[in-house]
Amino acid sequence: MHLPPTQDEVVSVLRETGALRDGHFEYSSGLHSNEFLQVPLAMRYYQYQRMFSVGLSRLLRANAEIRALVPHLSIVAPATGGLPVAYGVCEALRAKQVYWGETDPDGGPMRFRQYLEQNPDEPVILVDDILRTGNKLGQLRRLLNSRGAQVMALAVIIYQPNPEIQDFGSLPLYYLAKLEASYYSDCTRCELCKRGVPLEKVLT
Ligand SMILES: [Zn+2]
Repeated sequence: MHLPPTQDEVVSVLRETGALRDGHFEYSSGLHSNEFLQVPLAMRYYQYQRMFSVGLSRLLRANAEIRALVPHLSIVAPATGGLPVAYGVCEALRAKQVYWGETDPDGGPMRFRQYLEQNPDEPVILVDDILRTGNKLGQLRRLLNSRGAQVMALAVIIYQPNPEIQDFGSLPLYYLAKLEASYYSDCTRCELCKRGVPLEKVLT
């Protein structure tokens, strides 16, 4: 195993742990896909959580601007799936702290826990297990910017860009593997439905 792990090594861990499955899946949104990917299934195992986190921290440390700010860095995740990544990256980098955004179940804006405040110009690395549309990461970035923090980079284990991905401009993006999946908006457009491949409903 290399550090950071290669794309093939990451994919092999995802398959071995059941985090990545081929088939014919229907998501709760109605989308059909040939692939199921849930990184938390791989993060159940400490050695893989560590391998991915240390790999990402190596990529971040290679950026001189980030390296210089490490003792002051906050590692911030938009949701629970990002927490094992956030703590792993913080430990490997020896960064200052970890915290995360809270999403209101009633659809309100993302927020932080009460009394959690940013320092002026606080440098932040946004982390998550996966970047697809970037909706939550985009919300988190805007929230941090509105509170005076300075978002330096975005780091994810898997980059799986969706056609509707948010534009993060010139913000540096670090990832361990890039995966493409086919998505179909509904059954009538789905190649797998046309071929009669058995369909499995999934919860995400
Ligand atoms: Zn289908």
